[in-house]
Amino acid sequence: MTAPRIEVDLKKIRHNTRSLHSRLKARGIGITGVTKAVCGHPAIAKAMLDGGAAALADARAVNVDRMRAAGINCQIYMIRTPMQSQAAQIVQTCNTSYNTQMGVIAEIAAAALQAQSAHNVILMVEMGDGREGIMPDQLNSAALQVHHMPGIVLTGIGANFACLSGIAPTQCALARLSAMASAVEDVCDTTLKTVSGGNSASLPLLLDMSNPLSQAGRINDVRLGEAILLGVDPVSGRKIDGLFTDAFKLFAEVIEAKPGLAHPPILDPVLPFETLLPKHIASTRFILALGQQDTDLSGLTPPRGVSFLGSTSDHMVVATQDPTMRVGSEVSFQLNYSAIMRAMSAPDVLTVVND
Ligand SMILES: *Cc1c(COP(=O)(O)O)cnc(C)c1O
Repeated sequence: MTAPRIEVDLKKIRHNTRSLHSRLKARGIGITGVTKAVCGHPAIAKAMLDGGAAALADARAVNVDRMRAAGINCQIYMIRTPMQSQAAQIVQTCNTSYNTQMGVIAEIAAAALQAQSAHNVILMVEMGDGREGIMPDQLNSAALQVHHMPGIVLTGIGANFACLSGIAPTQCALARLSAMASAVEDVCDTTLKTVSGGNSASLPLLLDMSNPLSQAGRINDVRLGEAILLGVDPVSGRKIDGLFTDAFKLFAEVIEAKPGLAHPPILDPVLPFETLLPKHIASTRFILALGQQDTDLSGLTPPRGVSFLGSTSDHMVVATQDPTMRVGSEVSFQLNYSAIMRAMSAPDVLTVVND
């Protein structure tokens, strides 16, 4: 089979979505499935929808185009603040975008009016991650301005946590976001459809059954990528109860073997092979046709008994005592989020979905 390739188990993606969906539904919270790490792969997006995701979200217009071209016609949100230069394209492909810049929203409004449509805007509030968002003290006036902008419908507010800072949200932050939603509704005399309480990093709080249900407050949406795809909490790296962590596997083919040669002859004194190789193991050195161009190699976990020695743009060097490994055989790796994202967008890595 073609290698390198990433194999995706859609049953596990569906199961993870379904499991989170049923637990969050009990608290009045719906799931928006985030497809950016899989470049909007239509079969994976559909698995999220089949598992109960109410809508999808992506950070790039090309990924949205790919899902639309595959016939996915649910709500798809643009979760990265749109580029001003992209306003017309955003209006065409997405019903809703998350926004933080008044000038960009004005461009989107103009594009929507020109297309004789209305575009939904969710305002992102900065709540400590240090990435995107309107400062909380400016939210009400921004909301009022957007609410009165022809071509735009203000449909919600949201916040992002832990992406840049790595700091998990607190119950207090979610309560503040909830209160901000009510304040915006008062100021604008409107009802907000969406109060989006963050990403996978919010799940430990939103799923914690020891918190009274009321503490989720007005939050009725969470945008989930990593938790669905990998079954882990991005902040602690811990597995989320009841979810699969192995929906993705990366396969690479062995292209060279040096049987019994734990210490290769050092042809170039600059290469620190002596320090790289574990001396006590009489292992075989193998080269795999997989390199830095294909994925984030530091995000791969090799099978037990295979150790990573080094890599270049197109090669990965490993050592093992496994007697079955030979030229032409394959090694499979577990991937973290960053490795999935890079592998899914690499032109030479084939994606195979198994239903
Ligand atoms: C990437 C992203 C998400 C999804 O994050 P996960 O940690 O994968 O759940 C949600 N919201 C925004 C704004 C994002 O950029």
